[in-house]
Amino acid sequence: MLVTHHILDKEGTLMPYRWPVDTEVTRIALAVEEQWCRTCGGALTICDHRHPRVFTLTGPLHLVCKLAHCPTRACPAHPQTLSPAAETAIAMPWWVLGWDVVCWLGQRRFARHWSVGQIRAELADTYQIRLSADAIETYIHRYQQMLAARRQAPGQLAAAYADVEAVMLAIDGLQPEKGHETLYVVRELERKRVWFAEPLLSSATTEVQQLLVQARVWVERLGKGVRLWMSDKQDAFVRGIAAEFPGVPHRYCANHFLRDVAKPVLEADSHAKVKMRRTVRGLRAIEREVLAAQHATDAPQFPAVQAEESRCPQAQAEEGARDVVLDYCAAVRGILNDDQGGPLHPPGLRMAEALGEVQASLQRNLAAKKGGLLTTDSRGWPDTSTGG
Ligand SMILES: [Zn+2]
Repeated sequence: MLVTHHILDKEGTLMPYRWPVDTEVTRIALAVEEQWCRTCGGALTICDHRHPRVFTLTGPLHLVCKLAHCPTRACPAHPQTLSPAAETAIAMPWWVLGWDVVCWLGQRRFARHWSVGQIRAELADTYQIRLSADAIETYIHRYQQMLAARRQAPGQLAAAYADVEAVMLAIDGLQPEKGHETLYVVRELERKRVWFAEPLLSSATTEVQQLLVQARVWVERLGKGVRLWMSDKQDAFVRGIAAEFPGVPHRYCANHFLRDVAKPVLEADSHAKVKMRRTVRGLRAIEREVLAAQHATDAPQFPAVQAEESRCPQAQAEEGARDVVLDYCAAVRGILNDDQGGPLHPPGLRMAEALGEVQASLQRNLAAKKGGLLTTDSRGWPDTSTGG
């Protein structure tokens, strides 16, 4: 026997879920919790049954839901059919996955960063739950909706803000991808919570205003004061916040402020980098020369082990010097190619410091040589310009 059940996909259309023929299910009978009609007080009677099948982490369930209604035709509640509340404690209507599986999916996806493929394989291997990648994505989406709904639930919110005197709110528009509508996000900074987000087609004052009205409704429901608002101070925010939250200070967001300051800093920094790179050059020529010299001395003395013993101290010292030159070249190249760092750690500044250290190191070596500590012949050391 093949029993079909239904999965609602993202567009809300029905898709049959085909249960494997050999599925062993546990039967659970659920009845409506109330016995009496809330409207007329008469006894409720069972009028129908529903037979959803649900995957849980402990095995598939066959729920036998006894639906009830008030049999009194004259009662206004007569047309209503009541379902057992216990059913939704196991799974939402039309869902093929129980709450435990949905929570498991969400935790693996968002806390453990598993891919859909990984989740799919683990569900099949460990729990014998076979689902398509599409179905898993649908349920991950539902998990997010449930999580968002819970975060926004007034009771949850009131508990989170119980010991907060006044809230600090921020609004910003995020553009997830070019060409998509901007997602406007209202956050609260005292508890660091996203309150709500809404995609808006335009940043027109009237559209933004609706979000600010919603924020005011939330604040009023919480019964808290607003210490301040923060934003990038675009016109719609400035006007809207002044209208909905008269007298509340509206500060420029430190992050936006920093970004604006950073622009000229990074520009100057990048200009300095170009100048330094133009000055410190000729690395490849030096390396080529050194490698050519190395090759010339290595070639006739094969194999290397014998060469090592037979080589005179002078030749060994020269080879050591060549290695040092190559190491310096590698270090300088690394410094010139280092592009990491933002406005707080400008890469050009770091480059200048590092080049300064290389220069000081070269100077120390030259000074030591003048003092007679270094016996190496300097013919293999072409001058490198470090630009001062
Ligand atoms: Zn009734």
